[in-house]
Amino acid sequence: MHTHTVSELAAALAAGEFSSVELTQHYLDRIASLDGEINSYITVTPEAALAQAKQADERRAQGEVTPLTGIPLAYKDIFCTDGVKTSCASRMLDNFTAPYNATVVQRLADAGAVMLGKTNMDEYAMGSSNENSYYGCVHNPWDKERVPGGSSGGSAAAVAARLCAAALGTDTGGSIRQPAAFTGITGIKPTYGRVSRYGMIAFASSLDQGGPMAASAEDAAMLLNTMAGFDERDSTSANEAVPDYTADLNNSLQGLRIGLPKEYFDEGLDVDVRASVEQAINVYRALGAEIKEVSLPNTNLAVATYYVVANAECSSNLSRYDGVRFGHRCDDPANLEDLYERSRSEGFGNEVKRRIMVGTYVLSAGYYDAYYLKAQKLRHLISDDFSKVFEEVDVIMGPTTPTTAFKIGEKVDDPVAMYLSDVYTVACNMAGLPGMSIPAAPVNGLPVGLQMIGNYFDEARLLNVAHQFQQQTDWHRQMPAGV
Ligand code: GLN
Repeated sequence: MHTHTVSELAAALAAGEFSSVELTQHYLDRIASLDGEINSYITVTPEAALAQAKQADERRAQGEVTPLTGIPLAYKDIFCTDGVKTSCASRMLDNFTAPYNATVVQRLADAGAVMLGKTNMDEYAMGSSNENSYYGCVHNPWDKERVPGGSSGGSAAAVAARLCAAALGTDTGGSIRQPAAFTGITGIKPTYGRVSRYGMIAFASSLDQGGPMAASAEDAAMLLNTMAGFDERDSTSANEAVPDYTADLNNSLQGLRIGLPKEYFDEGLDVDVRASVEQAINVYRALGAEIKEVSLPNTNLAVATYYVVANAECSSNLSRYDGVRFGHRCDDPANLEDLYERSRSEGFGNEVKRRIMVGTYVLSAGYYDAYYLKAQKLRHLISDDFSKVFEEVDVIMGPTTPTTAFKIGEKVDDPVAMYLSDVYTVACNMAGLPGMSIPAAPVNGLPVGLQMIGNYFDEARLLNVAHQFQQQTDWHRQMPAGV
């Protein structure tokens, strides 16, 4: 059953080949036998999952069905889940049980989807390797000595090892696309505002966006249909009609204009990854697309700009964890200051502390203009680069990451090297554009991601473009050995 995509599972459930209870039990059994070595879940909720599955089967019997009824999913542990531990992979929230559901979680539950559990991640979604988790690193199912990418590494590994039918991730600077690339799955970060952030624990509010991580573009489209849409509880949520993302999947790509930014194919790109991406572009040529070189001239400023903006916002967002209202509280505080200081020192891990310090620094009175204001200006230039390119092309394509998955431990002592691995993904968030990663031909047995960036609210086109590739190739069907 687990080799099926969500759309195939939906068809099999509709045909009565198996029940949601049987399917859910199958995934729970797989998690129990395989996740010890992968560590993709922080919390598994077998009883609640089986109860939801039973309800889904009952609803189906009464003819109340949506395409996601009875489909077992996993949610990154950044999404609040009513009555279920929601830790953000931090010691700070190790004792936190959310009192309500995030909007996307509620929408999926209303659609009849089943929650298997909560997936591992980098603490507060800060990281590119899933090594910054209080619950230990996640192992890439393709090579367990390698990282699955981050910060949605648990969701990515769980989908890749088929420990769920699909999962939710969040992407602030690449955290859906980069782990999707490293684990050979399909992930889409929608336009900023397309998916509600209500109940999604904040890292950098002007960049964060939730999205689906799945085995195929068609599956991602099915999830996005339920996730997307206006939410009055999120003031940045877009009040735009939601198209049926599955409706255009089979549109022809004849005449599609694809732009390849020359800055995404520079010396920093691994030669084998480049060859794999070029091979993927040739598939589009054969499908009738027109390929042209374009330029995003401020790409070299993207990583530095991102790490100023994201850290500034994180330092502000994380100030709420003070040991008073919720989360970790130190023992026997001597006074209020001691309570703040020790609760935060004990609750946060090193990467989170590093970012709070950098963020506080760039926002401080003496440095605000030199760093934060400057970064805001550069953010505009980076967005303008994209606007100009979208006057000439429909979709931008390139590699998702400069290399395939790196070894666990390889970059932990060098935060700057870690940050540079985000070079192709962060600009898309700063512009608020939708971006996607789909599997291209692997290199030395490790997955490679083809990234595509679309214009605002053009998710349907990205999904169409991705789906057509997946009709021609079967990289997305490949599974790691031993799972
Ligand atoms: N890797 C980037 C970071 O560490 C992106 C994280 C994310 O998208 N949540 O900030």
